[in-house]
Amino acid sequence: MSTNAELFDQAKKVIPGGVDSPVRAYGSVGGVPRFIDHAQGPWIWDAEGHRYVDLVCTWGPALLGHAHPKVVQAVKDAAEKGLSFGAPTRTETMLADEIRSRVDPVQKVRFVSTGTEATMTAVRLARGATGRDVIVKFAGLYHGHSDALLAAAGSGVATAGLPGSAGVPAASTADTLVLPYNDVDALEQAFAERGDEIAGVIVESTPANMGVVPPLPGFCTAIRKLTAEHDAIMIVDEVLAGFRCSAAGYWGVLDRDGEHFVPDLFTFGKVVGGGMPLAALGGRAEVMDLLAPTGPVYQAGTLSGNPLATIAGLTTLQLADEGVYTRLDTRSEQWRGALHEALDRAGVPHQINNAASLFSVFLGCEQPVHDYEDAKSQNAEAYSAFFHSMLDDGVNLPPSCFEAWFLSDAHDEETFEVFTAALPAACEAAAKVIGG
Ligand SMILES: *Cc1c(COP(=O)(O)O)cnc(C)c1O
Repeated sequence: MSTNAELFDQAKKVIPGGVDSPVRAYGSVGGVPRFIDHAQGPWIWDAEGHRYVDLVCTWGPALLGHAHPKVVQAVKDAAEKGLSFGAPTRTETMLADEIRSRVDPVQKVRFVSTGTEATMTAVRLARGATGRDVIVKFAGLYHGHSDALLAAAGSGVATAGLPGSAGVPAASTADTLVLPYNDVDALEQAFAERGDEIAGVIVESTPANMGVVPPLPGFCTAIRKLTAEHDAIMIVDEVLAGFRCSAAGYWGVLDRDGEHFVPDLFTFGKVVGGGMPLAALGGRAEVMDLLAPTGPVYQAGTLSGNPLATIAGLTTLQLADEGVYTRLDTRSEQWRGALHEALDRAGVPHQINNAASLFSVFLGCEQPVHDYEDAKSQNAEAYSAFFHSMLDDGVNLPPSCFEAWFLSDAHDEETFEVFTAALPAACEAAAKVIGG
């Protein structure tokens, strides 16, 4: 049997950094990434046979837990019938209908393979619809790795401490205007100065790629008001929070709580594919019909709407009823409570932010975290110490302090006990770093 370290060394010889997505390499927390052998429900097993409570949940998709038997069976059945056809299937229409039934403003849906493609296409659509070039994004928010959106980005870009990426032509981000998040004044000023150049505003429904930083009351409504006044498109990126925070994503949570606004476009990913490579954009029919072949905005994909991916997504969403979301909300409160208590007991200053069941901790922060500057003021070294202590005690957290923590419907009392048993040592480790 190979160790994780041996597997990592072998991988590094043939794959840059040994990984296919940067955060997986443990660059910011140090140490050797766990190579995963298999997962079931709330548990994940590495190549050495160690078992962990998984709070990464494949970065969100495993809403029901890993390898849910009904989802796996649906994929097996579909696989028997062929892996890909490059032609339309009924399942795509069924999944589009499922999304429409959950997210009221969505009238039409286009399926793609990754969240990056979904947001890239949404931006192209906003530009095509308005005949303008400028896109507004917010600092610390992540919308995938397309050129135009790799400015002041969250997730792996934030983890690596990069301002952006090499290889992105200055021209590609020249039309990307980056504003501070949760700052209505900055947004009003941008529209006052450049309103007739702005094609659209893209925003995560709740930012969760600089840690979880939910919108302040009224911020999303202000975006909608300003974009509508200036005939610009509002794109709500639900790739992470969609179908996870509620049946209608975090947009649905805000709507339920009384903040009503109707975006032009949404992007979906992660949960929508149930763990398979699938993402989507959807919105007003008038805008969506600008996509080829009905309209002049080109977009295509050989594996788009893949039959295995769409059936995995459809089965996952069909199983994700209201009970799942209610249980996740309750469980998240319980796990956040335990975390808060343990950190207090060890004397570690911290903030725990949540958006429905999504949450993350900012170690060393004494003040509320509302934007990227606040998020960057956390103590990343304390998180590394905390992370490794938890990992040693059987809990797999995101290997970066800029990522959200994910629970699933399969997390139970046994996993909670492993989590709470691991907390005291991890909090002590963080306290040691902060205390110097
Ligand atoms: C993960 C993510 C993306 C990118 O999706 P990929 O499938 O990784 O390309 C885009 N937007 C948000 C909000 C995300 O969390």
